[in-house]
Amino acid sequence: MNESDPLDAPLPIPQVLASLPIFFDLAGKRAVLAVSGDGLWKAELLHATGAEIDLYCAAPGKELKSLTKRFSRLHLASRAWTPADLKGASLAIGVFGTEAEAEAFYEAAHAAGVPVNCADQPAFCDFQIGAIIDRSPLVIGISTHGAAPALARAIRGRLDAFLPQGIRHWAAAAAVWRPRLKAIDLSARLRQRFWDLFAQKALDTGDRLPQEDDFAMLVQAAEAGTTHATGSVTLVGAGPGDPELITLKALRALHMADVVLYDDLIAPGVIDMARREATKIPVGKRGYKPSCRQDDIIALLVTLAREGKRVVRLKGGDPSIFGRANEELAALRAADIPVEIVPGVTAALGAAASLQISLTERDLSRRVQFITAHARDGKLPDDIDWASVCDPRASTVVYMGVRTLEALSRRLLAQGIDPATPALLVERATWPDEHRVYGTIASLHAKVAVISPDGPCLVMIGAIFAQPHVSAESSDVSDADMLHT
Ligand code: SAH
Repeated sequence: MNESDPLDAPLPIPQVLASLPIFFDLAGKRAVLAVSGDGLWKAELLHATGAEIDLYCAAPGKELKSLTKRFSRLHLASRAWTPADLKGASLAIGVFGTEAEAEAFYEAAHAAGVPVNCADQPAFCDFQIGAIIDRSPLVIGISTHGAAPALARAIRGRLDAFLPQGIRHWAAAAAVWRPRLKAIDLSARLRQRFWDLFAQKALDTGDRLPQEDDFAMLVQAAEAGTTHATGSVTLVGAGPGDPELITLKALRALHMADVVLYDDLIAPGVIDMARREATKIPVGKRGYKPSCRQDDIIALLVTLAREGKRVVRLKGGDPSIFGRANEELAALRAADIPVEIVPGVTAALGAAASLQISLTERDLSRRVQFITAHARDGKLPDDIDWASVCDPRASTVVYMGVRTLEALSRRLLAQGIDPATPALLVERATWPDEHRVYGTIASLHAKVAVISPDGPCLVMIGAIFAQPHVSAESSDVSDADMLHT
């Protein structure tokens, strides 16, 4: 059968809501747990709910016994369950090795009017326990009606990554703020707006604890009729290329964005992660090409944030490395716009990972330094600490260094760097078409001139950047002279 062929028979998709998610408050209630198999996990789960658990197990193992010692609300009776044990319970869970045991328990629970679940025996369950995300008081349950628990777990993983850990504090704050809001004379419509703004805020800033100020600010925003609490700008490191290298925080910011401004070094895969409804604006400004000026970008950031938009400014690699982030930060602060930075994997680290090398090495590389070989006027800066680059124990990563590579090499040779010092060019590090050119500080320039790369490139200089497994014949002994011919 071809992979894309449909299945022969129509799939039995349920025509009804497969199960109704209800959230059962068990705190202080009595739950019965009857176990003849491995009931540890169920005991832990029930205990987490705050229930008083009567646990029946004829032959409890060591682990179950030790759990009973740790859990004050877990009451172990070392005998099999009897129908009388079920009377008055709020919930019953059975973990049994055989269907016959499950069936008997199920019948007895029904006779006592107690909702029952027998683990892994769907025929003897009134309810399923789905995959759970616990940010109590926020609880998310995911069910596939027993069809694919692994899928439910995978979905849980995704949602879990997406939800800030601190969101629980915001949910808890809502419980405190609700009566307080009631005490304020607000129309039903404004109250609703307060809660909409609250929800946005909790998702946007769920990483930090809610503050007193937040309540007042949300009331104010609801009264002012803004659609967002306030506009904001997040400078987000988009990594060197491979979209999988962005952080969870970056992903969350992209999911929340109203507007995304991105450079032309940003992989399309990263931009695709932004909220579908977000406006995406390219603001590429690669050197030597007609492009958006930095001033225009800054003005745009300020305007959008003032309109109340949540703006994500995607910057290649890490925003703090050769990204002129300070200019944007200063302007946003001056305009009183809340700004946040989400770090990213800088190109040098992405390249090191794809080269499978360590940037530090006990004897070969005692120091790592990132420099740029591109001054304001596009030429090689004159004020680089040349001695530090010539240091045989240093590893230097040069950003924006292709166009000035020849000048850089000449200068370093003149400053006394060992001409045999390995030098490597990595173009489009971590992209599928990453390309490397190995050489020495004396030879690299001529090799690079031949290919004239047009993607973003790093020049890496230092002993750790030697080509791995070079055989004696292929190593270029005359490298040292190449620049002088
Ligand atoms: N903030 C970025 C750097 C911006 S400066 C970071 O942290 O990576 C732009 C320069 O970064 C490019 O000229 C190039 O030298 C380097 N660069 C960015 N992405 C790169 C990549 N995938 N491969 C090689 N070099 C890259």
